[in-house]
Amino acid sequence: MDRKGILVVVSGFSGSGKGTLMKALVEKYHQYALSISATTRQPRPGEENGREYFFVTREAFQKMAEENALIEYAQYVENYYGTPREYVEKQLASGRDVILEIEIQGALRIKEQYPDALLLFVTPPSAEELKRRLTNRGTESAEVIEARLKRAAEEAEGVEAYDYIVVNDDLEACTERLHQLIEAQHSRTSLQKEFLNRIRAELKHLN
Ligand code: 5GP
Repeated sequence: MDRKGILVVVSGFSGSGKGTLMKALVEKYHQYALSISATTRQPRPGEENGREYFFVTREAFQKMAEENALIEYAQYVENYYGTPREYVEKQLASGRDVILEIEIQGALRIKEQYPDALLLFVTPPSAEELKRRLTNRGTESAEVIEARLKRAAEEAEGVEAYDYIVVNDDLEACTERLHQLIEAQHSRTSLQKEFLNRIRAELKHLN
């Protein structure tokens, strides 16, 4: 069966551990390509331009948006984040599944443009655990942590827009679960039109 790449949107509260999860997923399974977003946020210690994000100025970001070089973009806690179009389209065309680790506004825009996209929402087991992870990361100020927790409460209201929730309590189990859900999406009848047409034609031929 010929496989086309699908778009997989992964969202989750800031601090849900989805970054680590995505790295584990692409390392384990080579069918996945992880899209790198552009952002106006400052790099955190240890982040590298072109690896976690393309760190750009507000002017450069605006130019990308105007030139339609982003398939979606959104504002999140005072910064802009967007998905560069070219990489996504190239990878999908080559048959790889493309993972977008983006927030909810972006996720909804992707679903409008790509109805076959799979929308996954990653969450820690509890709010207490979320706060603990954000605090332990030690990269953000108390104000930013507070803003992110507030944003999490807002985002929690929109989770029904996603296809599946994945609770991240164990990295390995959660990686496996994500992979299974993506595999299941490939089997959806709406993504198997060519196969269905072929087998229908073959069946007619036999009768
Ligand atoms: P962070 O600053 O923690 O790296 O990311 C903040 C939020 O922005 C996260 O929820 C992340 O998933 C989201 N985000 C990252 N890249 C993009 C993007 O290209 N588009 C959108 N809409 N959200 C993004």
